[in-house]
Amino acid sequence: MTKSPTTWVRPEIRALSAYHVPDPGALIKLDAMENPYGWPPQLVQSWLETLRTVPLNRYPDPGGRAVQDALRGAMAIPAEYGILLGNGSDELIQMILMAVAQPGRTVMAPEPAFVMYRMITGFVGMEYIGVPLNSADFSLDMPALRVAIAKHQPAVLFLAYPNNPTGNLFDAEQIRELARITPGLVVVDEAYLPFAEADMLGALAEFDNLLILRTVSKLGLAGLRLGLLIGARAWINEFDKLRLPYNINVLTQASTVFAMRHKAVLDEQAAHIRAERTRVYDALRAMSGLTVWPSRANFILLRTPAGRADAIFTALQQSGVLIKNLHGAGGVLSDCLRVTVGMPEENDALLARLYAAL
Ligand code: PMP
Repeated sequence: MTKSPTTWVRPEIRALSAYHVPDPGALIKLDAMENPYGWPPQLVQSWLETLRTVPLNRYPDPGGRAVQDALRGAMAIPAEYGILLGNGSDELIQMILMAVAQPGRTVMAPEPAFVMYRMITGFVGMEYIGVPLNSADFSLDMPALRVAIAKHQPAVLFLAYPNNPTGNLFDAEQIRELARITPGLVVVDEAYLPFAEADMLGALAEFDNLLILRTVSKLGLAGLRLGLLIGARAWINEFDKLRLPYNINVLTQASTVFAMRHKAVLDEQAAHIRAERTRVYDALRAMSGLTVWPSRANFILLRTPAGRADAIFTALQQSGVLIKNLHGAGGVLSDCLRVTVGMPEENDALLARLYAAL
C-alpha cells in the first residue's frame, strides 16, 4: 500500500476525467447555453447600489429566505411546496443523489441526457442506467423505459424538459406514466424553462414522487450559480439536511432578489432568443448536408455529413466561433454539434462560417 491516489481514490473516480470547459478567449461563445445579453446601464447602476449595502463580513442567510420568496413570486410556485436552493442546479442533483445513494441502487435517464446525471451518479457510487431515446425524433422509448424501470427499480429517474442536448420536450402524458410506474423519485429538470413555453409544475399535485428542478442560469444569471428544487416539503426537508451551511453566498442572494424584481428584462431577452432560434433553425435547415432538429430550448442540435463533425467544429473555432462538439459521445450523437442561440450578429457569424466550413 502506498500513500498515493491510486491506493485511496476510488477506482470509479480515477476512471473519470474532469468536466472539461474550454477557455473561450476571444471566441464568439455559443457552446454553453448562456443568455448573451447584458443589462441596460441604469439597471446595472441600481444593481450595484443594492450590492453596496450587502454585509460581506457576515455569513449569508442560511435558508436564503428572501431569495426563496423572490423566486416563489417570480415563478408562481404555490405556497404548499418547499423550495431548496443549490449552488447551481448541479448541486441539487448532487444533494438528491447523496440522499438516496446505496450500493445496488440505480439512477436512470433517457439517453442522450445532461451529462451530470451520469457523472454525479458515479460520484456517489451508484449505478447509472441510460435508456436510449427513439433515434429519429428523440422521443421517449416507452416500451424500453417500462422494461428498464421494472428491471432496475430506479431510485431516481431524471427527465430534462426540454432535454439537453436534443432540445425537444418529451410528451407530458408519457412523463406522467413514468411518474406512476417509477418506484423512486422522478425529477423533471426544467433548466430551459425560459425557452420552452411549457412546464410540469402543475403535475406536482398529482404525484408523491415528482420534483421539479430549475435554475436561473439560462434565464441570464449563469454567473450567480443558483438552482432551485421544488416539491413536497417532506422531500425538500430531507434533502435540506445534506445542504452545506451557507451554500448560497450573499452576492448571489442579493443579486437574485434584485434580478427577480426586474425579471421582465430577462423575459424579454428570452423572447428575443426564441425568435432568433426560429431564424437560426430555418437557416440551418436550408443548408444542404445538415440534419437539424427542432428545439424548445436555447440551443439547436445538428448532424453534419458523416465523419465531418470534428473538422467543422475545428474550422468554426479557427474562424472565431466556439460551439459544442458532441461527436465524441458516440451513438446517436455521432457527427453531431450543438449550437447555442446567441445575439443576431453572433448567429449571423455562426451561419456564415458554418456554411463556409461545410
Ligand atoms: N440541467 C440541464 C438539463 C442542463 O443542461 C444544465 C446546464 N447545462 C443544468 C441542469 C445545470 O445548470 P446550472 O448548474 O447552471 O443550474
